[in-house]
Amino acid sequence: MRYFPFFHDLHNKCCLIVGGGTIALRKARLLIKAGARLRVVAPSVGPELQSLVAESGGECLFERYNEHHLDDAVLVISATDIDVVNEQVAGDCHRLRLPVNVVDNPSLCSIITPAIVDRSPLIIGVTSGGEAPVLARMVRSRLEAIFPSRYGLLGSLASRFREAVKARFSDGEQRRRFWEKTLQGPVAEQVFANNLEKAEQLMAQAIDQAGDDTLGEVYLVGAGPGDPDLLTFKALRLMQQAEVVLYDRLVSQPILELVRRDAERIYVGKKRDLHAVPQQDINQRLVDLAKQGKRVLRLKGGDPFIFGRGGEEIELLADNNVPFQVVPGITAASGCAAYSGIPLTHRDHAQSVRFVTGHLKEGSSDLPFNEMASANQTLVFYMGLVALPEICLKLISAGKDPKTPAALIERGTTPNHQVHIGDLETLPELVKNTEVHAPTLLIIGSVVALHSKLNWFDQ
Ligand code: SAH
Repeated sequence: MRYFPFFHDLHNKCCLIVGGGTIALRKARLLIKAGARLRVVAPSVGPELQSLVAESGGECLFERYNEHHLDDAVLVISATDIDVVNEQVAGDCHRLRLPVNVVDNPSLCSIITPAIVDRSPLIIGVTSGGEAPVLARMVRSRLEAIFPSRYGLLGSLASRFREAVKARFSDGEQRRRFWEKTLQGPVAEQVFANNLEKAEQLMAQAIDQAGDDTLGEVYLVGAGPGDPDLLTFKALRLMQQAEVVLYDRLVSQPILELVRRDAERIYVGKKRDLHAVPQQDINQRLVDLAKQGKRVLRLKGGDPFIFGRGGEEIELLADNNVPFQVVPGITAASGCAAYSGIPLTHRDHAQSVRFVTGHLKEGSSDLPFNEMASANQTLVFYMGLVALPEICLKLISAGKDPKTPAALIERGTTPNHQVHIGDLETLPELVKNTEVHAPTLLIIGSVVALHSKLNWFDQ
């Protein structure tokens, strides 16, 4: 992070603008909105800017900039098109440790001004640090669209009830939960519909009745195979609501970064044969946290119900009457296949697809290889890297054509996505001689041959 964002209280504070043209005017408008007292310095100042400054109780000094203009100022904006003046202003400010912004000249700035979405009291600032201003403005436009203009009214309503809520809940956690519930529920809807009276009524009612539900909730959420763009909207929403997150080794870093910043993060990842936290402990922990009233996110790679032991985790929740929701995710088979140009079914190749665990029990696999050897099906092995030679060999022994195409996909859908292509005979050897990184997925079937034509994802 190259810049640290701040929100500056400029109410009744003196801000200096050097320059009297249209850019100065634009900056003046914003600063006045924030309650600043303006001092505008320039040999000539446009008429609109002059009247704006006069109306807001500021002053215009029709002269060249000199250091004395900085007296009392808490913020300086240099908006002239004369380089030497901009440099002089910036130099003086840097010496005096005064925050200065030189318009369109990031190298002279000690502060930069963001693109603003004003839903006061809610204010959003977006910056690209001067590197891609158009992108920042595009983000702002999207935010403008996401947050209805009445969002500000919701903020004001929250502010009016702040004391009442504080009095009702002494515990900060409870308070936060209350706010999150009301600001996303019917109260908010009434505000957006401009029914403020009704919104206030509902709010008062909610304060009266709240506090009885001390039981938390668990969200069992599939995070997909790695690419954060493959998350569902629901997953993202719950990721931003939960106060505690228990996550796996398979959940990628960019996805974790989308979890609410202040959420407690608990790693319960497992490596093959190396269980960081035993499954029963995870199950119990979910119950305990929910009983403390927490909203708990159990974030799992792929889909929680596909080789994810999600079923076991919610069974204990159900036994303990803890409310839960399950959010499906894109499973590794779908993600890896799509990003490798390997359709899992295809009219000419496979009429069915089978998801199989390749995890060995006591060093060996007792899968129904005879069934799996029949033609026109695609086999997808999860956790199959160690057993890869055995799987290929047993399929061949069961009668499968040794030339059946097979792909091993490592770290699918991530920037490190790699596809290794061979057949039942050659793939084990190829993989043995290659450095392969977990997680990997094995796809076997004639659909794999389509990869060479349909591959679209850069590797
Ligand atoms: N619930 C998960 C699967 C968990 S089992 C899902 O639905 O995807 C763990 C196995 O999933 C790994 O051993 C690997 O075979 C597979 N896997 C998960 N993510 C993967 C990825 N990004 N690339 C390749 N394989 C992956």
